[in-house]
Amino acid sequence: MTDQIYWNPVLETLPQEKIRQLQLKKFKKIFKWAYDRSKFHRKIYDQAGVKPEDIRSFEDIRRVPSVEKSMMRDIQRKDPFPYGDALCVPLEEVSVFRQTSGTTGQPVYQPDTWQDWEWWAECWSFILWAQGYRPKDRVFIPFGYNIFVAFWAGHYAAEKIGCEVIPGGVLDTKARILKIQELQATAMMGTPTYILGMAETAQMKMKIDPSELTIDKITCAGECGASIPSTKRRLEKAWGAKVYDHAGATEIGAWSFECQDQPGGLHVNDAMFLVEIADVETGEIIEEPGRRGKMIITALDRQAQPCVRFDSKDVIEWSSDPCSCGRTSRLIKGGVVGRADDITKVKGVLLAPSAIEEVVHGVDGLGDEYEVIVDRVGHTDRIKLKVEVLPEAQDQCQLVECELADQLRLKTNLRYDIEICGCETLPRYEVKAKRFKDLRKKSETE
Ligand SMILES: [Zn+2]
Repeated sequence: MTDQIYWNPVLETLPQEKIRQLQLKKFKKIFKWAYDRSKFHRKIYDQAGVKPEDIRSFEDIRRVPSVEKSMMRDIQRKDPFPYGDALCVPLEEVSVFRQTSGTTGQPVYQPDTWQDWEWWAECWSFILWAQGYRPKDRVFIPFGYNIFVAFWAGHYAAEKIGCEVIPGGVLDTKARILKIQELQATAMMGTPTYILGMAETAQMKMKIDPSELTIDKITCAGECGASIPSTKRRLEKAWGAKVYDHAGATEIGAWSFECQDQPGGLHVNDAMFLVEIADVETGEIIEEPGRRGKMIITALDRQAQPCVRFDSKDVIEWSSDPCSCGRTSRLIKGGVVGRADDITKVKGVLLAPSAIEEVVHGVDGLGDEYEVIVDRVGHTDRIKLKVEVLPEAQDQCQLVECELADQLRLKTNLRYDIEICGCETLPRYEVKAKRFKDLRKKSETE
């Protein structure tokens, strides 16, 4: 079993044509499940005039209205308390509560049954196996086990595939690093921001070189970082380990992963999720590679609170190349580029925050942290970028700043007011970083 390349050799090498048949079959089933059992879903489907028996092709699937996060917020905190009308199982079958982080508004509650929870662990098993996790691995999880799903399912999947798991719960960063050293952990999971922060703490405050510890692979999630080439290079260099990306969400599940061949993108777990890409302006479904749109996703097997054509607002595009690993699932080129809400026009130019990160992490001499503040002075947009220069590059501050300004202009077509801050003065984040602030949005809503 440990020599096996794939977690599920049948599903992961199924020809695309067969995968599409499976997706259609499963979609019909989950759509009927939601229609029959949830007043919330039935109402929006009846309004659109789509019934379960109408679904015969992928064209028909496109007639099913998508669900947005704001719609879920509106029905929650009502009966059956606290989930409201989207709950498709009796309340007593719910075995765990989670919620979204609420970075874009009021948190959404997420119920799961025990069966859903096993499904979560199964989805994560695909990810971990594809990233080289095997029973001999000792996996350290530096995450504050709480109401956020984050790495909970990663934990259970690591156990499921036979690894030994060390829950690094309430320990602080220093204690976590010492535990990794003491127990010779071989793998770890975290947000790119936190994993970089751990490396900084080890180097600056403990005089430990993280690349000399025993970690040889790291699974990142929660932010785009591990799919941004310069951030991935920083992470891999700091830890002397392979770094893999994974994208998932509380309301959706663990839908994608980077494999060991690192093809410059994410595999979609096509057997368990149906990913569609919709044009942000027109809603037209994009089939061809190389055109960005927002992801509309269906979790094909999740039951308690189904995720049927959920408008995730994640901006993605299809890749045209198959992956050398032999998996037949489709690839998302360059991972999740950002959220449709965050990709904003500044001075008339489209700007994705991940493009700024790619530049900052690609300039030698700059620290990992940065902050972007977009503001409007009179009728003109202004972007302020705060960065830290590392102690060893302090005497070349001007050179570093020039390089940064040049690269930013080249890669984003915009000019920035750059502010060099003292070492370790910008905020550090434990989970997801909040580095992009658009003050224009605030003044518009006030
Ligand atoms: Zn692959």
